[in-house]
Amino acid sequence: MDIWFTENHTEGYKVSWRIDKILHSERSPYQEIAVVESPDLGRALLLDNTVQTTTRFEFIYHEMIAHVPLMLHPRPQRVMVIGGGDGGTVREVLKHPAVETVELVEIDERVIEVSKEWLPQISFALDSEKVNIKIVDGLQYVKQHASRYDVIIVDCTDPVGPSLELFTKNFYRDVFNALKADGIMVSQTGSPTFSSHFTEAVKGIQEVFPHSSPYLTCEPTYIAGFWSFTIGSKKYKFDNINSDRMATIETRYYTPDIHRAAFVLPKYIEQMIK
Ligand code: SAM
Repeated sequence: MDIWFTENHTEGYKVSWRIDKILHSERSPYQEIAVVESPDLGRALLLDNTVQTTTRFEFIYHEMIAHVPLMLHPRPQRVMVIGGGDGGTVREVLKHPAVETVELVEIDERVIEVSKEWLPQISFALDSEKVNIKIVDGLQYVKQHASRYDVIIVDCTDPVGPSLELFTKNFYRDVFNALKADGIMVSQTGSPTFSSHFTEAVKGIQEVFPHSSPYLTCEPTYIAGFWSFTIGSKKYKFDNINSDRMATIETRYYTPDIHRAAFVLPKYIEQMIK
């Protein structure tokens, strides 16, 4: 059997990798969900033919989306994750001893169930008693709570269908209101090189939060080159890391030096967001 998965990133740029086995495939009310086995990436979760996470490289994305905002907050007790149904972000959030509760706000219950069945090393933390799962649209849920969260992490799909509005200034304003006076948010904001929504998303966060910046990583699962996250903070700046906490947090990618380096932007990316 010689099956290749191809993801179309733009009209003229596709990336393909070989699949050994299709382990699961279904259509949920929101999207096509599949789990496949790749000789090079391990198990991969695909939503609407777009790779979300792979067991070989997920630690890079999940550590960077979770530890950068959490290490800047002196006492992150109440955290919300929007999207993130595979559980990888929640797993990293729970490594912080101060965290008392994580609300996982995922629109598609089937992503959670499929991840629990096929990706246990990513999803196991979803069973923690600190995790409160809400199967609702994050866009609506965030509007219902004012000044409540220390950290909000937007770990959503790229802006198509139900996640389209999660990249708008109106949504970032609702996130701002849901955060406490010293709250911090982060969102995955795609590839600065190939995602057409990158600049608008960064500018939306810049306009709403007094302190904001994209930061970068390289994750071989995604499109070539840099992958971006954008952080918005009401109070804390981005180099004030509570690194004493590192003694109790086990990571494979994140370190305080990686944290600082991630905020150094190449000149062409700085120019894209001016
Ligand atoms: N790391 C991933 C990537 O490749 O960008 C994202 C992972 S996670 C699986 C994305 C999740 O966001 C999906 O399970 C999807 O159902 C969820 N999602 C999309 N729109 C949403 C919304 N409006 N509210 C809550 N969850 C949403």
